[in-house]
Amino acid sequence: MSLSLFPAIRLLCRTVNARHFWPVVVLLLACFGAVLVVLAVTTRAQDDLQAAQETQALQNAVQSLKHNIRHDLQDYAKWDDAVRHISKNLDADWVDDNVVAYLGRQQGYEQILVLDARNRAIFEFARNPAEVSEAKIVSDPELLRSAKRVRNMPRTGSPIEAGFSRVNGKLINYAVAAVVPLTSKVTIPANLPSHILILADTVDNGKLAHLNENLRLSDLRLTLGHPNAALRSLALTDTDGSVLGWLQWTPRRPGTDLLRRVAPIIIGLAICSVLAALLILQNGLRAVEAVRQSELRARHHADHDALTGLPNRRALLSRISAQLALGDDPTLLFMDMDGFKDANDVYGHAAGDLLLKEAAARLLLCTQGAFVARAGGDEFAVLLSGDKSHEADTICERIIDAVRLPFSIGHYTVTLGISIGCARGEMLGAEGQDELIRRADVAMYCAKNDGKNCKRIYAPALDEGHLLRMKLESDLRAAIERDELYVHFQPIVSAAHNIMVGVEALVRWRHPEHGDVPPDVFIPIAELSGLINAVGKHVLRHACLSVRETALELAVNISPVQFWDRNLLDDVRDVLQETGFPPERLELEITESLLLRRPDKAAEVISGLRSLGIRIALDDFGTGYASIGYLQRLKLDRIKIDKAFVAPLGNEERACEMILSIVALANAFDAQVTAEGVETESQAQIAKVAGCSRMQGWYFGKPVAAGKLMTLLDPRLISNVA
Ligand code: C2E
Ligand code: MG
Ligand code: MG
Repeated sequence: MSLSLFPAIRLLCRTVNARHFWPVVVLLLACFGAVLVVLAVTTRAQDDLQAAQETQALQNAVQSLKHNIRHDLQDYAKWDDAVRHISKNLDADWVDDNVVAYLGRQQGYEQILVLDARNRAIFEFARNPAEVSEAKIVSDPELLRSAKRVRNMPRTGSPIEAGFSRVNGKLINYAVAAVVPLTSKVTIPANLPSHILILADTVDNGKLAHLNENLRLSDLRLTLGHPNAALRSLALTDTDGSVLGWLQWTPRRPGTDLLRRVAPIIIGLAICSVLAALLILQNGLRAVEAVRQSELRARHHADHDALTGLPNRRALLSRISAQLALGDDPTLLFMDMDGFKDANDVYGHAAGDLLLKEAAARLLLCTQGAFVARAGGDEFAVLLSGDKSHEADTICERIIDAVRLPFSIGHYTVTLGISIGCARGEMLGAEGQDELIRRADVAMYCAKNDGKNCKRIYAPALDEGHLLRMKLESDLRAAIERDELYVHFQPIVSAAHNIMVGVEALVRWRHPEHGDVPPDVFIPIAELSGLINAVGKHVLRHACLSVRETALELAVNISPVQFWDRNLLDDVRDVLQETGFPPERLELEITESLLLRRPDKAAEVISGLRSLGIRIALDDFGTGYASIGYLQRLKLDRIKIDKAFVAPLGNEERACEMILSIVALANAFDAQVTAEGVETESQAQIAKVAGCSRMQGWYFGKPVAAGKLMTLLDPRLISNVA
């Protein structure tokens, strides 16, 4: 049992924390120790009681030895006939017939002696005659002292004495009596010393066995030398109290016997209790540990983002306030992924999740131990302590470079960017966490507004622009709800026939306070705030309704955010159905920038739109970074050369070559070309000669309301172009 017990205890000790293990073990051991002490005391008391009882019984037996020999001798010594046959003249035959016959032969006493007045043995009997000379009890001083004492006793009483003595190395039990008359019929002169009758018996182990019959003492024996201290002893003394020998025996120990029987049970119980207690403790601790772990998990969940494992906004806030409370001047980098919403829409949420996880991992790599949090959606934050604030610029650059690298999501490669707003916590005080986040947020919006994928540092001056943007955003929302946006149309002229063949729809917003807000200003706001889809749909529906009754072609701008919206196809189909506008007269203008990130997916969206029967034009060609490779993959119907390339026509020789090259490129892809921003006659001439099939610009007409369109078709203008 012990072999299997110790590994089990060791295992328990390992699993049960020492802090809890030892107190329980000590407590249990103390309890069982107390039980054992009580048992030991009880055992001892019971053993002592038994020993005392045995000693008392033996003492009584020893007394009865003396009593019996005295009793046996008494009647023979105080007897008229004894006086007559011993004290007057010794009649040895009478003694033999009357005394020895009974006491010696029948009772079995070993020696019977008669001493005369001068203590000479005048009669001797020995059951074993050889022992008589050896015994020499007649010269034993103890017996002679006894004889003297009994002679001095009054003869009318019972002059007799019994005791023990050691004679010649043997212990004897004896009785000494003066021979005196029982009645007054016989007298002994008072001055004549009495004769003495002696009865003696050897006390040895054989006799003790007989004595022990009733007592049943274990291993009772007589020891004349030094007693064995381990055994129980009773001293046998002479009449003076001198020790003659020891009666020794092994006392019975009922308490110890009982203890021996119950001890294994108690020890077993103790071990079982300790093990049970430890098991209960272990289970209890496991339960406590499980609760603690789940608490930790709950706390972790409350403070961490489940997807990326990064601390969440709540944790960010408490971290900022803790650092501000310490008087630290932390720097907060607040960032938003550029293009994430598009990617999420296009590739689905699972891909979006992978993008966020990968972005989080890159941020951690770039920030080397700084506090990185996911503030929500595609927003992240990096908090730098005051002593690391000087590294903010470097860290921003590292982050921008890291996020710019393509992300591999399954079969796709996605390119994203990140806009970072940077704010310092100087002078904000302990309660400034919200203000710090607000400032970093303002700076981040500024970065978005300034072209994205860059960083901006907060300065109070930014607040003004930010507030204006916020105000414009809410005003724009209200304007959409109140249907205050309207559309102007700019003519598009056929270079071959010199007539207006189409129009481009351009959205307009007249702000009640700020007047006309250019689309370059409010379209980015609409894109950032998620209002662009509503704006886009509004413009498309309006434009289709306005131009439906003419034979004109209609070009409508589609923002990149709109392009990547998964509802785009449905929205366009709905508007076409709703307005009854023929799809073959509709051309959607997209920009180069959206081709950069996901050319494959862009090709998919384009072919979806083309399947409705509408055409796709690439707007502002030359201002973005679209490569020939990208263009080749897309089925584009038209390329619109940006006004930046048209403006120098007629002034710069190379400008004409550029236009020729773009036209050649477009022709190679089976795409038509439109020259945008044509402001002069010569620009129109050159564009036409260069091969542009359509032209658009102030030279032909500025954007006007639908009702004014016809007035723009001035025949003079058109003939000039010809
Ligand atoms: P865009 O699509 O390239 O539109 C042409 C812009 O060039 C228009 O500016 C137009 O007024 C201007 N323009 C036309 N001819 C000339 C010219 O000869 N000289 C000069 N200097 N400019 C000329 P606008 O209306 O301010 O629009 C600016 C941009 O705003 C548009 O560029 C387009 O990207 C965006 N936008 C306008 N309306 C919408 C819309 O409904 N939806 C979307 N998504 N974007 C729109
Ligand atoms: Mg356009
Ligand atoms: Mg354009």
